Amino acid sequence: MWFSVFTNHKFISSIVIKKKIYLSPPHLGLKEISYVNDAFEKNWITTSGENLDTFEKNLCQLSGASHCLAVNSGTAAIHLALILLGVQKDDEVLCSSFTFIASANPIVYLGATPIFIDSEVDTWNMSPLLLETAIKDRIKKGKKPKAIILVHLFGQPAKLGEILKLATEYDIPIIEDAAESLGSTYEGKMTGSFGTLGIYSFNGNKIITTSGGGALLAHDKKLIEKAKFLSTQSRDIAPYYQHSEIGYNYRMSNILAGIGIGQLEVLSERVKKKRAIFDFYKNNLQPTGKFIFLEELKDTYSNKWLTVILCNSEEPDHLRLKLEADNIESRPLWKPLHLQPIFKDSPSYKDGTAEKLFQKGLCLPSGTAMNEEDLERVIKILL
Ligand SMILES: *Cc1c(COP(=O)(O)O)cnc(C)c1O
Repeated sequence: MWFSVFTNHKFISSIVIKKKIYLSPPHLGLKEISYVNDAFEKNWITTSGENLDTFEKNLCQLSGASHCLAVNSGTAAIHLALILLGVQKDDEVLCSSFTFIASANPIVYLGATPIFIDSEVDTWNMSPLLLETAIKDRIKKGKKPKAIILVHLFGQPAKLGEILKLATEYDIPIIEDAAESLGSTYEGKMTGSFGTLGIYSFNGNKIITTSGGGALLAHDKKLIEKAKFLSTQSRDIAPYYQHSEIGYNYRMSNILAGIGIGQLEVLSERVKKKRAIFDFYKNNLQPTGKFIFLEELKDTYSNKWLTVILCNSEEPDHLRLKLEADNIESRPLWKPLHLQPIFKDSPSYKDGTAEKLFQKGLCLPSGTAMNEEDLERVIKILL
């Protein structure tokens, strides 16, 4: 009978599509909803309220930065940071080349010029050597760069010691783009707390999320006070709406800050799980000799936001398609910004490192809600 065909267990299981494994989906804890409900109950559902105060206080405590402002994206935080450092039209800003484009876009919003710095092989982050070459060359060409945007990619802290030394020597402030490295430390201190300003992102794919959001951090109270003013349309102190400066609508909502409070409570668990996922992949895949994993440097601790493999022989894109055929999402590494069509005319200081990583690398599913069975499915295809 036709009916029995369709209820035949074997038949049905053979056509069932396997559960999708995403790269890094949101992973909520149990408490977020209660903080969100609290905002609803108190009717503080816009851009001020207790959740925001608590979220900012907790972020300061976690990061070690003295002051913090929650905003509506990591990109907005970078934009504000550049404004606070006085970056204007025709200024030059040094920026990691191996990163997501959001690191550099705000430079262009201000009419300034991004100058891209290639990676070094130990951390895949900004090369201190090329950074010094660039600083010297830009000064020789007549313009001292106004700021350095330093990214800690995939959660791995950059060579902060050497880079901070150069920043001090040449007196150029650092904006730490710690969008991907919340929870990562360098010499025991949180990334995001080293620069003159630091930023986090709480976009949906990051290690914790507020659905969308970001934060700006600093040790200097005045910088964060000014950022708050700019992020709320630069309203002068007056009984009416008066403005003496151009402002922005960049503040985070008190509802989303509620999600953030709950997510911060599970951050250390999430970091542990991300690291366990990395170890699982490494223990199973490295012995084959087909893949290379990024090793943590002494004195650094990575949140392992995404596990990345470098392929020795196989084409990463071939593997990506094989995974996709099994309903598993993987992704190429960030295409270096100096290779992006939109930045083809921007100056860059490079030695081919980021380009090689881009060609050889693949980001593996690293969602913290993955179970053993999910991980086994991934490695079975890669082995
Ligand atoms: C995600 C990300 C950003 C931007 O954050 P948004 O919150 O998405 O605006 C900036 N830099 C890096 C390196 C990122 O990964």
